[in-house]
Amino acid sequence: MGGTWSVKIPRLATTSPSADELQGQIQSLLNKLDGTLSLWKPESALCKFNRSTSTDWHEVPPELADIVEQSLVISRQTDGAFDITVAPLVLLWGFGPRDFHLPPSPPSDSTIAQALPLVGHHRLHARRNPPAIRKDIAGVQIDLGAIGKGYAADAVAAHLDGLGITDYLIDLGGQLKSRGHSLSSPAWPIGIEEPTHDTRRILLTVDLHDQSIATSGDYHNFYDAGGKRYCHEIDPRTGRPVVDGPAAVSVLHASGATADAFATAFMVLGVDDGIRLADRLGIAALFVRRTTGSFTLHPTPGFPWRSDAR
Ligand code: AMP
Ligand code: MG
Repeated sequence: MGGTWSVKIPRLATTSPSADELQGQIQSLLNKLDGTLSLWKPESALCKFNRSTSTDWHEVPPELADIVEQSLVISRQTDGAFDITVAPLVLLWGFGPRDFHLPPSPPSDSTIAQALPLVGHHRLHARRNPPAIRKDIAGVQIDLGAIGKGYAADAVAAHLDGLGITDYLIDLGGQLKSRGHSLSSPAWPIGIEEPTHDTRRILLTVDLHDQSIATSGDYHNFYDAGGKRYCHEIDPRTGRPVVDGPAAVSVLHASGATADAFATAFMVLGVDDGIRLADRLGIAALFVRRTTGSFTLHPTPGFPWRSDAR
């Protein structure tokens, strides 16, 4: 998934596996998920499905059917702002596997127009029993970059829950999932960073209570070409990267996968439509807008930011 992970556990019961054993278990769980869901590993179940031109049911590991099903639900809830069939566009815009010897450059209007008919969550189907996924047209491809880390955090949490570990903080490439509390606090206090690519300053602090928090933004994965900045959040409706959107969006949810997916969706929807949808669905989110030299914060009413923060 192109990132690092960490898990903090303040204290281990004597009956629990050792820290080394836990590290090994979590690493192999993540390797297995990455080996199934990665767009960057040609032999992953995901890449095999992407290469397949068949429109019949395609049997896949249960995790892939599950994450696709969860993704399709969120696509419907966000009216297609979140859409894992965005893969052909992600590749065209240079944010997927590509020749890294050449700088990325924006595709032509006609290439975008050719790719757009392949994008659309209603062209993708999932079933759990037996686990399989299906595409309506041969060219449909999936990219799980916007939900995979949150989904993997849920899997790590389920593993720790199964071992009876009641306090932990999982960090998978910046997507966090917590249970219980840290050593020094009744929750897990975490910092949300300022959405700038060249500094690492904390914008505000949030207390996580048995929740996940995911952040998407335009400031980590982007490139400049022809005087314009292109970020990796693609609007599936236009086929183009989001322009003039929020600098970042953080979403709190019990599910890591849901938080991850909605953070991406809200980047695409923007502050006004995003806050309206978050309100309607009862999702706590924080939208951060870039202004000249500063940021403005637009939290939904349920977003529990600390009053001592700015
Ligand atoms: P995130 O950092 O979670 O917002 O995920 C961004 C990644 O998800 C991008 O690098 C793409 O691989 C993929 N992606 C971009 N736009 C979308 C979208 N509208 N819906 C689903 N996945 C997307
Ligand atoms: Mg996401």
